[in-house]
Amino acid sequence: MLNFLIFGPPGSGKGTQSVRLAEKFNLKHLSTGDMLRAEIAAGTELGKKMSAIMATGELVPDEVVIEMIAARIDSTKDSAGFLFDGFPRTVAQTEALEAMLNERGMKIDSMLVLDVDHDELVKRLILRAELSGRPDDKDPAVIENRIDVYKAKTEPIIEFCRQRGIYQPVDGVGSIDDIFGRLSNLISGYTES
Ligand code: ADP
Repeated sequence: MLNFLIFGPPGSGKGTQSVRLAEKFNLKHLSTGDMLRAEIAAGTELGKKMSAIMATGELVPDEVVIEMIAARIDSTKDSAGFLFDGFPRTVAQTEALEAMLNERGMKIDSMLVLDVDHDELVKRLILRAELSGRPDDKDPAVIENRIDVYKAKTEPIIEFCRQRGIYQPVDGVGSIDDIFGRLSNLISGYTES
């Protein structure tokens, strides 16, 4: 089993690329953002609580997403591994994920980090708001907060992964196909060895 993290600031293209990569490499795509939005759409109590937090651009509590991932981590039947998208987002989530994988004789094999500059991110998110209808994409102040939260709470994971020798930066600017090609080359390095 090979386990990949796809990583990068909001608007860096993680979701778009994950769907395509999961299909190409037969990986199970787990997106905590999608899971949370599914809770909201289903009108659950959890969804109601989390939607208020997500609307501000802050992170939901670690326990909530760790539990969501834990509930799905044994469902890799027939797949080559996991592609984690939008999770982990804090060092505590990374440690929890590592422990869950280790308990099952697996590890985080690679962390693919999409590099996109600030102005390009804001441009993409504003454009996406029109298509996605996501409330957290509409408000420029919320977008800025999400980028700030990424820098403060999520970026420290890069150092954690650097120490484990699994950090792989990827240029996240260019066409969707170009970026897909760059990511695919890196993943192929694992699946073909
Ligand atoms: P994006 O990467 O474009 O910001 P996501 O769909 O990954 O979008 O996340 C949307 C929101 O859901 C985040 O701003 C945050 O509030 C919440 N969220 C998603 N994943 C996590 C996570 N792993 N930990 C905490 N909050 C999360």
